[in-house]
Amino acid sequence: SRKLGNGRQSPTSPLKLFGQAKKKINDIFVEINGYVDESNGFLGGLDDKDDIISKDQKDKTQSYADKVKGIREILNRDRMKVAFFGRTSNGKSTVINAMLKSKILPSGIGHTTNCFVQVEGTDNQEGYIMQGDNQESVHSVKQLAHALCDAKLDVDTLIRVCWPKEKCSLLRDDVVLVDSPGIDVSADIDTWIDKFCLDADVFVLVANAESTLMVTEKSFFHRVSSRLSKPNIFILNNRWDASASEPEMMEEVRQQHMTRTVEFLVDELKVNKPAEAEDRVFFVSAREALISRSNEAAAATPNSHFLDGYQGRLFEFCSFERKFEECISQSAVQTKFAQHADNGKSITAELRQVMAEVCDSASDKRTNTQQLLEETRDRLDFVDKQLSLMETEIKDKIVTMAEDVEYKVSSALMDEIRRL
Ligand code: GDP
Repeated sequence: SRKLGNGRQSPTSPLKLFGQAKKKINDIFVEINGYVDESNGFLGGLDDKDDIISKDQKDKTQSYADKVKGIREILNRDRMKVAFFGRTSNGKSTVINAMLKSKILPSGIGHTTNCFVQVEGTDNQEGYIMQGDNQESVHSVKQLAHALCDAKLDVDTLIRVCWPKEKCSLLRDDVVLVDSPGIDVSADIDTWIDKFCLDADVFVLVANAESTLMVTEKSFFHRVSSRLSKPNIFILNNRWDASASEPEMMEEVRQQHMTRTVEFLVDELKVNKPAEAEDRVFFVSAREALISRSNEAAAATPNSHFLDGYQGRLFEFCSFERKFEECISQSAVQTKFAQHADNGKSITAELRQVMAEVCDSASDKRTNTQQLLEETRDRLDFVDKQLSLMETEIKDKIVTMAEDVEYKVSSALMDEIRRL
């Protein structure tokens, strides 16, 4: 059927991996947040004049709370990002629209995207565009096209098209797609890369199957791979529908393109092994994929839009998407979440260290107090003994004194009696 491309977003889409990992790591940070809050509450109750906790230790635990808060905010904003590059009119906007399954970005003759356009999901019911802090609502593609054309845009401006997530599964799964001005326009490529690409998980080069890779296309990716270590690159040989007019040449041309692009990825850029690289190169017709997926399909008759072999090309577009989804979700989980996980680990380790130090100084203090108590007790015992010794001595003395007095009194009495 013509709608072959539509069944692709199965419930087991590899993109779900990202959402699941995001939820998991978010839950872990909720727990870490709990520990940090609890520790802060406990340590905050201690007086830093008691020699158990220092002001420095208190400040440190407070800073962990801020760090965790910051990471959770970034985590909430984390999305998978794919950036599309290629020469003007190779079909970048059409590829993005086909992946979004509807004509969102303006494309075609008379429209060239002369700035960066980022398509991302919004929970709102209606789409809008953001240019800097300016928000403008968008009701139709035509209006969007006008907005993109009207604005006096610089090649390194970014316009964000926020499109309702409910209309598009790719956006629901947290994918952000960035369209670029053609790499044939003169621009400071390094600035582009620094501004828009450093956090991209995947790059897609939209090439023209009717010609070989151009020097500008190649040199752009040389710049990318010199700034990012092993970028994930897909190469789409677009406009492959043109091959339908020369079926006898098709296999040969395909083989030639494949060999050259694989060489480019493996030998020149050194980003893939040969076996991997073949899975990064596809021969597609974005135009056919878009038509078959968008609402226009209902009205279209197959013959007017599709050339021979279109089913194979649609199938290849789906294969590209599958590989792309696997690649982007894995890469994003690894690069983005591995960093959060490391930060989470070091925060808990440091917090644990502070708690251990506080515990140590509390137990030191306890031992000291006990020692003092024991020393005091010993001294008391000694004094007590002394006292009792003195008591017996005094008693003895009193007895002797009494006896002495008694003796003296009685002898005096005797003397008196004798004298009488
Ligand atoms: P961009 O400048 O790279 O964004 O290119 P566009 O997406 O605007 O496409 C330029 C023109 O090429 C439009 O008229 C598209 O309909 C057409 N186009 C895009 N992809 C294909 C394709 O696979 N086959 C054919 N025949 N035309 C295509």
